[in-house]
Amino acid sequence: MAAEGNASFDLIVRNGRVVTSRETRRLDVGIRGGRIAALEPSLPAKAAQEIDAGGCLVFPGFIDAHTHMGIPIKTTWSADDFNTGSRAAAFGGITTIIDFTVQAKGQSLQQALKERIHRAGGKSFVDVHLHVNVTDQPERWLHQIPSLIQQGFRSFKTFSTYKEAGMMVTWTQFRLILETVSRSGGVVMLHAEDDEIVERNTHRHLSTGRREPIYHARSRPAEAEARAIETAARISRETQAPLYIVHLSSRQGLEAALEARSRGTPLYIETCPQYLLLNEQCYRKTNGHYYITTPPLRRPEDQEALWQALCNGDIDVVGTDHCPFTRQQKEQGNRQFHQTPNGLPGVETLFPLLYTYGVHQNRITLQQLVQVLGTHPARIFGLNHRKGDIQIGLDADLIIWNPDQETILSSSHGHGRADWCPYEGMKIAGTLEYTILRGTILVHKGRLLADTPAGEIIPAAPPRS
Ligand SMILES: [Zn+2]
Repeated sequence: MAAEGNASFDLIVRNGRVVTSRETRRLDVGIRGGRIAALEPSLPAKAAQEIDAGGCLVFPGFIDAHTHMGIPIKTTWSADDFNTGSRAAAFGGITTIIDFTVQAKGQSLQQALKERIHRAGGKSFVDVHLHVNVTDQPERWLHQIPSLIQQGFRSFKTFSTYKEAGMMVTWTQFRLILETVSRSGGVVMLHAEDDEIVERNTHRHLSTGRREPIYHARSRPAEAEARAIETAARISRETQAPLYIVHLSSRQGLEAALEARSRGTPLYIETCPQYLLLNEQCYRKTNGHYYITTPPLRRPEDQEALWQALCNGDIDVVGTDHCPFTRQQKEQGNRQFHQTPNGLPGVETLFPLLYTYGVHQNRITLQQLVQVLGTHPARIFGLNHRKGDIQIGLDADLIIWNPDQETILSSSHGHGRADWCPYEGMKIAGTLEYTILRGTILVHKGRLLADTPAGEIIPAAPPRS
């Protein structure tokens, strides 16, 4: 490996075991102008600032490809805004979050994007990219899609459920969106749950007075996920348009997705830590209603299937669906599943959990970890010209992880607004020493060093035609 230009750096991270998507190797990382400028076994040069990462792993700053900062849900708002949520991200080794626009009734896709950029701008401690939600009158705004993609926003999120919230698109609309987006080189994301199955089951349980948290899971069975994936994948195959399934939660859904892929459907799969590490037993706890999230937590056999798929390389991305609520907000649902705001905190625990329960427990390799939290989301969403790996020329987003110190997860150590933690008491095989964003130290040993939020909105590179 070579150095770029002559040898003086703003920062050198020395002696760490550098983990990239290809290998793990003892290297010094030289940083200049916010970018990685050199990777060498031993850099002779001096730098204004040096960090000794001896005994530590040096990872690329990770990407959480699925967060919801400050969005309206039911009668409330998700508890973290871009400021508090990005702070939590920084403490969890996430240096880029990909959030979603919120399309109000009658609002164009372009207006919704502008508003969301305004909301995030100057507030975030980490870099931000945005997916564009397509939830209101899609036909009316399809013409804006090519221009949005040119502006650097190439991923469009759709829902096959949430009709009651006015967010669902029909399969006819879905086909139109898929065709339009893929013509310009973008990707369509789908929240896959068959609305008819969900509606029918929800009605059945509510009408017989079954409102305990477990009926949230019973109302949204795995079958609903699998049916929606089958339909969407058929349309994707017919149009040869890439499709990204968000928060895959079940074995049935996974089987539908893999079956489609084996028949040539261009399909990406994302899952989340909650589907790997938690199951529907959580709904039986006294605070079972806190765990209401959509899709619901599933059964142990679903967890096992998802781990297996992750280990096989069948899952492309692990994101969080970070959408936290405080205990008080969760109580507003009055312990009725259909009124409880749905969502879980996750951005701060994503990497530590995946490192511990994936790498440390020998289910996935360090390289697979970098792929699902770095290179894959960067490539799929067009950020790989800057993000996702440790390579000369990329943004100097790094985290330094000490694998010799154990930590215990607890809401009292969290940096977001949620005052409870779904993973309370779980052990983490390491501790975060540093988070570095574009060459600037953001977090060091549990302290936020940035005075002001310096996260930028990062547009995607224009797709290759
Ligand atoms: Zn989501």
